[in-house]
Order: sequence, then structure tokens, then C-alpha cells
Amino acid sequence: MNLADSVETLKGIGPKTAEALKRAGIRTVRDFFYNLPKDYESYAAPTSIAEMRPGKVVIKGKIDSLSTRQARRRRLSITEGVIRDNTGAVKVVWFNQAYRVRQFSPEKEYYFTGNFELKNGRYSLISPSTAEVADIDPKNGLSPIYVAHGAIKSHDFRRLVSNSRSKFSEIPDLLPTVKPGTRKNALFFAHFPNSPKSAQRARDYLAYEELFELILAAKLNRQENEKLKAVEVPFVAAKIKEFVASLPFKLTGAQRLAAWEIFQNMEKNTPMNRLLQGDVGSGKTMVAALAAYEVVLQGRQVALLAPTAILATQHYEGLSKILEKFGVKTALLTGATKKKAELKKQIAAGEIDFVIGTHALLTDDTEFQDLALAIIDEQHRFGVEQRQKLLLKSPDGLAPHLLAMTATPIPRSLQLTVFGDLDVSILNEMPKGRRPITTKILTEVETRELLYPKIRETLNNGSQAYWICKAIDDDPRTETTSVKSRCAKLQRDFSGVKIEFLHGRMKPAEKDEIMERFSRGEIQILVSTTVVEVGVDVPNSTLMVIENAESYGLAQLHQLRGRVGRGSKASFCYLLTSGDTRPSLRLRELEKSNDGFHLAEVDLKLRGPGEIYGALQHGALDLRIATLSDTKLIHRAQADVQKFLQNPENMVKYRELMNGITKYQQITTLN
Ligand code: ADP
Ligand code: MG
Repeated sequence: MNLADSVETLKGIGPKTAEALKRAGIRTVRDFFYNLPKDYESYAAPTSIAEMRPGKVVIKGKIDSLSTRQARRRRLSITEGVIRDNTGAVKVVWFNQAYRVRQFSPEKEYYFTGNFELKNGRYSLISPSTAEVADIDPKNGLSPIYVAHGAIKSHDFRRLVSNSRSKFSEIPDLLPTVKPGTRKNALFFAHFPNSPKSAQRARDYLAYEELFELILAAKLNRQENEKLKAVEVPFVAAKIKEFVASLPFKLTGAQRLAAWEIFQNMEKNTPMNRLLQGDVGSGKTMVAALAAYEVVLQGRQVALLAPTAILATQHYEGLSKILEKFGVKTALLTGATKKKAELKKQIAAGEIDFVIGTHALLTDDTEFQDLALAIIDEQHRFGVEQRQKLLLKSPDGLAPHLLAMTATPIPRSLQLTVFGDLDVSILNEMPKGRRPITTKILTEVETRELLYPKIRETLNNGSQAYWICKAIDDDPRTETTSVKSRCAKLQRDFSGVKIEFLHGRMKPAEKDEIMERFSRGEIQILVSTTVVEVGVDVPNSTLMVIENAESYGLAQLHQLRGRVGRGSKASFCYLLTSGDTRPSLRLRELEKSNDGFHLAEVDLKLRGPGEIYGALQHGALDLRIATLSDTKLIHRAQADVQKFLQNPENMVKYRELMNGITKYQQITTLN
């Protein structure tokens, strides 16, 4: 067995299943084994149906008369049936899980675990998770739960992995630093744990392995990077001074320091690899502008990559205004750009100095004449591959300098390890004259009485407001108000006020147009989904309402709130809750503090290991198993990588073991 083989080589996986797995990102045998359960359900010690009490229960029985019907409220399907054991029968109900009808054989026995509760006047078992009795080890009763991907549900994964049970013994070793066999055992016990402890041990090893590879890749990247040649960009003091003097504000000390670090870096003939970290509103864009200007002064090109078209457009508008005065030719390239081919020709011919854009920048046909600096805004939104793609756009054999920017705070000690290939600059100072944002938790019933007057006052002052909603459309299943109906309601309640909505599913041109009119002040209240979350900068908006505030994470709330408080006027943020329960600690902390680094610490404490830095895990680091809060494990992996690198033979062995299949090797060879 080869881990790089297609999943189709595994028993029980035909072309159809393989196709469905591929859509879930599972292509190779390796992907298949590393698709770990997200959790484990315990079916230990089932009770008999006769003895069930309300609350969480585990029962064992056969199921019959399952059928699905459509509820009167659109888009809700109800699947109902009866579970029997030899003591009695109980009604079971699932919502929007119509596939359950086909899941069970009437003659087989299954475990069911879920809440036994009163629903519509009758006690039923509500949306239980299930497992076939024959599949569960009776000694521990543990069953893995997998994330469902389209047609492939958790129980399908369970069956597929069970079919390949005998294949685990063939999994080759990977890390020369651990006992032979560790990897295959860990993978086996992650899927088939003996006990909760054995599952944890297995995952601990796999997290260690992941961190080891990440840190190793960072170290190798740095070594490789030091071998590359880059354009030397001399510091032109007089020009930079003139540029800084033209700005409508004084740079903060932190901005000066970061710019200076960047200038120093770019003077060298090895490529800069720098992460610029600063809380929302700390003025990262201006630092990027300084770096860009410096490079353009040498007749070289700069690219700025932003995660959304809205943000790219806004950067383009802001930056072109200040840079064109100094002779910098700027252009915007997004999916919606008209005459793309023409623009790309100009870029390739070096007629454009500074290109600002989205993913559209990364396509193969976007070529530069002499790209010397690549800037990535909100870099946690991008994967490593995208970063590499941009860096490969330098055609003359020289590597561009890289400046990555992020508002996600990461403890310093960890930066050095997991971002081992990056140098870090920090903007730990807010521009002068900023007033802290006043944040208040309000219940929805207080909206009219307390919030509406505040909105009127804001608009009367000539300022603008954001109103953030969770959903684009109304959903009869939830009580969440959508952007559309909230917008309609506000239009009724505030007649004569210009109110419009914005969401991610609108056409790019439409989004741009709305954002543009909002920045020009032609829209007074913008009702929006979280598409405005990253980067958007309209300093004249001073009020933000976040509806369903409890449904967002702390980091995201902080990021959203960062859309206000960008000018010199006092700003306000209202967090709306249903008021059914006491506001969470998360919201109360947000009410108290405006400091992103402090909130990150709080978040770490509140959520504990495993959930923190969610965005980061899918972006910059793409960690699947380990988390950045595994500090101990990170330090251990780091020490082991250090030792590993002392013996050059290890690297040879490791490359062989990797078998050309981990993404980290791709990265190291790309560089
Ligand atoms: P972020 O770090 O969140 O990307 P931005 O770069 O969008 O922040 O800057 C936020 C706002 O602060 C912008 O309107 C920008 O023009 C303004 N700004 C940047 N630097 C300063 C400064 N030194 N003094 C005053 N305002 C500044
Ligand atoms: Mg920004």
C-alpha cells in the first residue's frame, strides 16, 4: 500500500464513492486515514426503553415504520419512526435528515443516543446519533463521529474505515524521532479507540507529527529563502520623507518602526519574509503603502492581494489617491474587472507599478515584468499555496519580497516557532485621536426604546451606521432576521433615511457599487452580513449593531467592531441578544475591552484548547489536528526538529518517508 495512491485502491471504495470523497477533499489513501473523527460518541451502558428518563439517554434496539414528511414551514423535513427493545417502544424524530429513512435495516440492532424530551405533547427521542451494534466494541462502547461531507455521512465514513481496518498495519513510519510503528498505531486508535484515553493519546501523537512537519517546513523554508536572491531596494530618505509629509496625519511610532524594519529588510539581496501584525485599525495599510512606494521608486512592481473584492476595491481607491500624486501607476484586478486581458498585458509590460486585487491576481495568465514586493492583506484568509503562487510571479529569477499582514494576534513565543520562516513586526499603538469604541449589550426588546434614538442621533450628526445580520435570506427554521427583512424593517421605521443591504452572494459589481456609495456617504445605514468583517474602512461610520451577537466568536466580534472607531468621532457598538439568558462572558468581555491582544488571551481561556484561532487554522497554518494553544506540544516539537536537523541523514530519510505526498514537501520544493 502506498499512501499517495488514490482512495479507490482501498477495499469497498468504488468510483462513485471515490468521486464523493474527492469532493470532500479526500483523494489519496493518506487523506483517507488522516480524515480523523471530530469526536467520539459513547454508547456504553445503554438503558432499556422502559427505564428511560428525560434527558440524555443511550438505548439499544431495532427501528421500524420510518417515514419522512415535509413540515408546513418550508424547508423543514421531519423523519419519524419507532424504536423497540424487549421492554417497550419509543418514538424517534430527526429534523432535516431525510437520509435516515434509508440508513437502517429492520432486522439489525442499533444504538441510539440523544435527548429524550417532551415535543409537541409527547416524549420522543430527538435527533439521536446512531451506530450499528455490530460495529461497536462492546468493551468500551465508543464510536467515532466524522464530519459529514455531502452525501457521505458519519456512518458511511465509519463503514468505509471499518472496511480498511486491516490496512492500518501497512502504514509506513514518518518521523525518525519516534518509535517505529507509532504512526500506524496512532492512526488506528484515533479511528478505533479502546478508551477515551487511547483516543487522546493517538491524537496527541498526530498533533505532534503535524507540528513537527510545520516547524520543519518553516525552518527549511527559511534556509531555502536565504539562498534566494532578491532585488535590493535602497532606502530613498528624501522621497519617503516627502511622501510621509503629504499624509493627512502623523504616522504612529509603531508604524515608523515597522516601516523602518521593512526598509532595512528590503535593502538586502535576500527576500524579505515579514509578517506585520496589528490590531484592527492600527494602520497596517499605510505601512504597506510606504513599502510599496519605496519599491516603485526603483522602477519595480508591487502586488497587493486582498481576500475580498470589497476590500481590494477599497484599498485601490485609498491607495491610488495618495500614491498617484507621486507618479505611482495603480490598477485594480478582481473577478469583476472589465477589459482584464488588456490590463494583464499592461501589467506584463510593466506599465502598471502597483496592482491591487483578489484571487484574480493568482491566475497563471497574470504575469509581471518585475514584481519585487508581494503584499498579502489579512493573510490568515489565504493558504500557504496561494502565498507561494504569488511569490512565483517574479519572472526574472529574483524572488519578490513578501509582506504579510494580519490582525489575528498570536502570542509572541509561538510566532517564532510556528512562523519560524517569517520575521515579525508589530503595530502595538493606535493612531492618535482615536476614541475607544463604547460597546453595549442590548436585548432585542430594548431596540426601539434605546437603540433607535441612538441611531437617529448618529445620522443627525452626519455619521453612518452598520447593522450586521447573520443570514442573507429568511429561514423559517430559525428566528434569525435576514439582511433583507431587517433592511425592509429599518426602511419602514426610519422613513426618509437611505438604507440598503449588502451580502456575499450579490454580484461583485453590485457589491462594489454599494460599498462605494456607502463610503461616499450616500447610504446612511448599511445592513450587511459579515462580508464587511475584514478590512473595510469607512471612517465616517460610528455606529455598529450586531444582531444575534451570541452566535459569533470573540475574535470575529472584535474584528467586526473594528469597522467603527476609525475616525476622530466617538463610536458605538451594540450587541443584540435575545435576552432569554444572561449575556455570555464573551460578550461581557467585549463590552469591557477594546484591546485585541487582551481579548485573544480571554478567548484562549474561555474556549480552552482546541477551538482558538479558528480562522488561523484554516488559513496561514492550516492545522488540522494540533492547535496553537498546545504550547507544550509546540515546544516539544520545536526541540525535536532542532535535534533532527543536526543529523543531515535524517533529512534524507524523512524525504523518503514522506513519499512525495505531504504538502510541506511541495512547499519546500517550490521555494
Ligand atoms: P488596519 O490595520 O485595520 O488595516 P487601516 O490601515 O485600515 O487599519 O487604518 C485604519 C484607519 O486609520 C484608516 O482610515 C487610515 O487612513 C487611518 N490611519 C492610518 N494611520 C494613521 C495615523 N498614523 N493617524 C491617523 N489615522 C491613521
Ligand atoms: Mg486592514
